[in-house]
Amino acid sequence: MTGISDSFQRPINYLRISVTDRCNLRCVYCMPEEGVALMAHSDILSYEEIYTVVKAAAEMGINKVRLTGGEPLVRAGLSDLLRLLTSIDTIDDISLTTNGTRLAQYAIELKEAGLHRVNVSLDSLKPEMFNKITRCGNLEDTLEGIEAAKTAGLTPVKINMVVMAGINDDELTDFASKTVNDGWHVRFIELMPLNGDDSSHIKLVPASEMRKRIETMGKLEPSEVDVGNGPAKYYRLPGATGTIGFITPITEHFCYRCNRLRLTADGKLRPCLLSEEEIDLKEPLRSGASALELKKLIEKAIASKPKGHRLAEGKKRNGRPFSQVGG
Ligand code: SAM
Repeated sequence: MTGISDSFQRPINYLRISVTDRCNLRCVYCMPEEGVALMAHSDILSYEEIYTVVKAAAEMGINKVRLTGGEPLVRAGLSDLLRLLTSIDTIDDISLTTNGTRLAQYAIELKEAGLHRVNVSLDSLKPEMFNKITRCGNLEDTLEGIEAAKTAGLTPVKINMVVMAGINDDELTDFASKTVNDGWHVRFIELMPLNGDDSSHIKLVPASEMRKRIETMGKLEPSEVDVGNGPAKYYRLPGATGTIGFITPITEHFCYRCNRLRLTADGKLRPCLLSEEEIDLKEPLRSGASALELKKLIEKAIASKPKGHRLAEGKKRNGRPFSQVGG
């Protein structure tokens, strides 16, 4: 691995790949009820095209890959992509972010195809609230998916909860209890104001407030999860085998240690989730660009990573919906 850094000396080793813009849920903070305009199938990168990009990126120092969406498990044959990616020797961590609704069906197949671990989005442990937040989801499907992932060895399974004032923040301690009673690794995420949703009325709960409420259960001691070095800071409640993480894009942004690039389902490289700059790889890929040409484009994306985002200053993101760019 050669290793590459951006203009702010941040090492870049992580590529997040959106394999589809389609999703089978309509989470209130992510998408409007009627959905968003969908990409044409012909615009979505094939698995071979994704592999070609990852191979070039791996030769530049990318060694971690995460598949996301949309909902990655609504795209047919995801295991075929995993098999292609696992053939790249220097990729040593392949993970998946999913809403878990189809994990019970696919967990074993995904593990056998080379997936290492999953993050599952779960915003409520109450069936009615889960259905209200996702607008159409069934809590039981996701819970079964989580268990299937654990049984298949897609571990550590990390649970992502977006915390929303007056909607699910009364469940903070219920989720925290899961780290004590069931060994869950739960990450509480601050809500970002994103374009494409209809959530302007939904309010953020700052991580400091989440922490205060969870500490009514006991003092949080700093901790680590054995795999992944993402944006969360981890803690443990007394006696817990699981961990509690806080992801704080708003109140304590972590741009200074951002190590990632994103590839959208339609083949654009995004240096930053929250900036609209994109570098097209689809056309070059389809007109026969060489590996060297692809690497030059990847280099350009890395060089143009901004220093940080400005959401905390009230600057709302104003571009493609989150589901299209790979949250
Ligand atoms: N469908 C998959 C899932 O549900 O995990 C992958 C895509 S989803 C867009 C990826 C992650 O982005 C989820 O954990 C979701 O909760 C998070 N997310 C989406 N909109 C968000 C927002 N406005 N603020 C914070 N997190 C958000």
